[in-house]
Amino acid sequence: MNILVFIDNRKNEIKKTDKELVYYGHLIANKFSGKTTALVLGDQKDAGSLGNYGAEAVLYTKYDSNYGVSSIGSIIKAAVEKVNADLVILPYNSSGKPLLGALAVKLDAGSVSAVIDVPEQEDGKLVFKKGAYSSKAFAYVKSLKDKTVVTLVPNSFTAENVGNEANVEAFDVDVTPKVKVVGVDRVEGKVPLPEAERIVAGGRGMKGPENWGVLEELAAVLEAETACSRPVSDTDWRPHTEHVGQTGIVVRPNLYIAMGISGAIQHLAGVNNSKTIVVINKDPEAPFFKAADYGVVGDLFEVVPKLTEAIKKFKG
Ligand SMILES: Cc1cc2nc3c(=O)[nH]c(=O)nc-3n(C[C@H](O)[C@H](O)[C@H](O)COP(=O)(O)OP(=O)(O)OC[C@H]3O[C@@H](n4cnc5c(N)ncnc54)[C@H](O)[C@@H]3O)c2cc1C
Repeated sequence: MNILVFIDNRKNEIKKTDKELVYYGHLIANKFSGKTTALVLGDQKDAGSLGNYGAEAVLYTKYDSNYGVSSIGSIIKAAVEKVNADLVILPYNSSGKPLLGALAVKLDAGSVSAVIDVPEQEDGKLVFKKGAYSSKAFAYVKSLKDKTVVTLVPNSFTAENVGNEANVEAFDVDVTPKVKVVGVDRVEGKVPLPEAERIVAGGRGMKGPENWGVLEELAAVLEAETACSRPVSDTDWRPHTEHVGQTGIVVRPNLYIAMGISGAIQHLAGVNNSKTIVVINKDPEAPFFKAADYGVVGDLFEVVPKLTEAIKKFKG
């Protein structure tokens, strides 16, 4: 089975999630005696390092800021034809999600969104596992086509170094962009939440955007990223780029500190893979405590400044 892994390297940085995608391809290739090729869009400086995570070959191709979903889809399709890929793996993020359907149509392939495990084979067809009902249940989806395109949920696997030497090759495809990008506004200087090692998140219990200083001070001493629950971003207290959960970003940090968040299942769906969860809530019955490794029952406006001071002292 030939596997093509799409790596969106437009920001010139091979990320943790990119390594996971390649490692996932490697696990499938091992199981079904296949070969994993990574297609890197954008900078190729570190493309060879993907061999460490299981890529046997790496194709790199230039990025043009006018490439939209259709152009990128055409490049991936050309790569699928070059390596005769049976399976294409995309990231389950803003880059991979729109490509899934478009590419499946271009390739006449089966598409499965948000897979979380290595597939099984049944009657020669691949069966993928995915979460359902906020990961309270699992669905098993069989692709009925010869080719399949999937998106992989970040943090489903920890990428291991398998020490392959990848053969790196330029891959030039002529595509005519159908759109022209006339401007881009980027959030600079922040670690993307799926990559973050430490996250401090606030919910409606923060009472208003004017109180976020308490949370940001704790985040600063912990060198953590900031996140929030959905109602917080829906009411514009915080930007949507911080919204964590079922309809937001899925995270898997080593440390997730939640303050003033009740712990609704839709929020937990995005955080329950965190290594250590600390919950600060004044309601001892808040459901988040059931998912917590450590809990503080108390008013966050009293507890958090004390915690920040204690960490400062400890670090000092
Ligand atoms: C289809 C669907 C998808 C959804 N997707 C998401 C999602 O992706 N992410 C998400 O977060 N939600 C999502 N939701 C909403 C979710 O159901 C909850 O409504 C939401 O998570 C609640 O946000 P919250 O915990 O910030 O607010 P609340 O539920 O209002 O909880 C506030 C908490 O703060 C505590 N508190 C108040 N004051 C203090 C204080 N001074 N000190 C300490 N604690 C205090 C309270 O005890 C309470 O537990 C979704 C809902 C639906 C229907």
